[in-house]
Amino acid sequence: MWQQSEKDGIFFYTLPHWKIFGAEVILSTRIGNISKPPFDGLNMALHVDDQEEDVLSARCFFMDTLSVPRDEFVSIQQTHGKNLRRITSLDRGRGALSYQDAFADTDGIYTNESHLFMATFYADCLPLAVFDPVHRGLGLAHAGWKGTYQNIGGALIDAMKEAFDSDPKDMFFAMGAGIMSCCYEVDKSFYRRFLDQYDGASQWFSPGCTPEKYMFDNIKANSDLAIKAGILKENMTSLNRCTCCHQEEFYSYRGSGGHCGRHGLFARLL
Ligand SMILES: [Zn+2]
Repeated sequence: MWQQSEKDGIFFYTLPHWKIFGAEVILSTRIGNISKPPFDGLNMALHVDDQEEDVLSARCFFMDTLSVPRDEFVSIQQTHGKNLRRITSLDRGRGALSYQDAFADTDGIYTNESHLFMATFYADCLPLAVFDPVHRGLGLAHAGWKGTYQNIGGALIDAMKEAFDSDPKDMFFAMGAGIMSCCYEVDKSFYRRFLDQYDGASQWFSPGCTPEKYMFDNIKANSDLAIKAGILKENMTSLNRCTCCHQEEFYSYRGSGGHCGRHGLFARLL
């Protein structure tokens, strides 16, 4: 279960039951007073036209508060694709201080090495985390609708199976804050596209407020896809907090009209 925490004015969520088994996962919020509007107040991402020095101040403040060494940070340039990258200690510091240095065209990242502080960024898209405590592997993935459509969660589980000989039955699977079906209206072509792609996808939609519109449940979609990949229901957890309904706490791309910062999902093996 996600647990809300606060330290020196930083508000975030963690997974204490994962930490017992050796993985630390942190979901940041936007609560802070470093970033300026429309990115206020703790924007973690360099790709959103925020002032670079403000982003780096926010990141450094966050990492210092949580006692994470800056040179352990590793991040990616997310493109709503399904490319995944396994990282090692040779990648330490990549993307920490510059966007250009982050791994290009990558939406998931995983490792079996300790301390590497993997960083991914979100505003409405669903943050996914996967942990194998038996073979010690940890990964993150960025699942907006395009990632979900391409089953990036299933791809991450498969990549960790391959790389670490993981059994999905041993794996923990977590979903952080994302836009929920209350606020995620889509049109008929979106609906049809998913129905063509996945059996049972109709369960991920409910009627919209107007004819020919549907509400999309990205959390249900990702849970079902994870179960299909072998994750046990009892090993799954979801924060179930809508980013669009809670813009005081999280960034929302839809809710802000497309101009906002990004909160982060971070993880490391201890
Ligand atoms: Zn909502």
